[in-house]
Amino acid sequence: MTPAISVRGLSKSYGHLHAVRDLDLDVGYGEIFAILGPNGAGKSTTIEILEGHRRRDAGQVRVLGEDPGTAGRSWRAKIGIVLQETSDFGMLTVLETARMFAKCYGQARGPEELLELVGLATSSGSRVRTLSGGQRRRLDVALGIIARPELLFLDEPTTGFDPEARRQFWDLIRVLADDGTTILLTTHYLEEAAALADRVAVIAAGRLAAVDSPARLTAYVNTAATVRWMEGDQLHVEQTDRPTELIRQRSANGAELAALTVTRPTLEDAYLRLVGLA
Ligand code: ADP
Repeated sequence: MTPAISVRGLSKSYGHLHAVRDLDLDVGYGEIFAILGPNGAGKSTTIEILEGHRRRDAGQVRVLGEDPGTAGRSWRAKIGIVLQETSDFGMLTVLETARMFAKCYGQARGPEELLELVGLATSSGSRVRTLSGGQRRRLDVALGIIARPELLFLDEPTTGFDPEARRQFWDLIRVLADDGTTILLTTHYLEEAAALADRVAVIAAGRLAAVDSPARLTAYVNTAATVRWMEGDQLHVEQTDRPTELIRQRSANGAELAALTVTRPTLEDAYLRLVGLA
């Protein structure tokens, strides 16, 4: 099956600065795909090219079977975009905003159904400017999915959320993915990529450093576990592939190992290694 997004040899420079270099990517239909990378890595440039909002210098790009540089309105209608900054409809209520947008599209979801889906039904009468950051982002997503896009772009969707709002937002993204929407997101939160994404691309200095599932990326680094415990005032730290055996040996005399922890490398460890920060 042809992928929803296919990128081969994508390059883009700003003057002498190579923002994206020879990038290859495939995103399958129905995937939640995350792009990670430090500031300036080329994530926004890549996404904007995929959205058809920026020209490329070289490479082949297919998004839902078309070249975003030349695709027309019918293609655009199949794409939902949630940008980093939210649009300002402060004086309108949530429901009025949803209705206003629904009028612009032939195949729009009903405004009430839409607000139910994103968890804003109880705030439908609230003015947009009174919403919390998390509610505001839900409204952004609501507007992004109003025309039932096949592919949704989310640029740093949960920046500034508290942990509860972030988890609720993840549930919403999973509902959309279960419904068949392909989702491409950028995020600064490694935990978010690990929790949500089927696959993650790590971009560093405009190049693809790695692409794989979060679990397999994590396993790239080092599968050894770190075992820590205290003896008196002294912290013991050992790395081992067989933590159970190590703990059995150390506690053979029946001693309780104080403050015992066993940790495995996380996606964050893998990420820092891949982008050259660890
Ligand atoms: P990211 O989204 O990963 O932070 P960007 O794609 O925004 O990365 O930027 C990649 C590089 O290109 C950065 O060094 C950035 O300063 C530069 N850049 C981005 N947009 C422009 C532009 N319009 N003109 C000049 N340089 C730009």
